[in-house]
Amino acid sequence: MGFCVNCGHQHHDGVRFCRFCGSQQPSEQLLARLRAEAEQIRLLRMQMQQGNVQDNAYARLEAMRQQAEAAARLNNQQNQNYPPRW
Ligand SMILES: [Zn+2]
Repeated sequence: MGFCVNCGHQHHDGVRFCRFCGSQQPSEQLLARLRAEAEQIRLLRMQMQQGNVQDNAYARLEAMRQQAEAAARLNNQQNQNYPPRW
C-alpha cells in the first residue's frame, strides 16, 4: 500500500493516479532513488555522529539533499502540471 502524495489517501502500490484526487503518483524509480538517497544520508549522519568522516562529508550530504529536493520538485511539477516559468 502507498499513500497519495497530494491528498494522503491510501491506495494500492503501482497506481499511476490517485483515485481520490487524480494526482499523478511518483514512479517506483523515483521512490527507489529517494529511498536510496535517504539511506545514504542516514548512513552519513551516523558516521558524523561517530566522528569518523572526511572533510567533504558535509558537502556530499548537501549535494545529495539538493538532488533529492530537485527530484521532489520535478515530481511536484509533473503532478500539478505547472506551466514552465520561463
Ligand atoms: Zn490523492
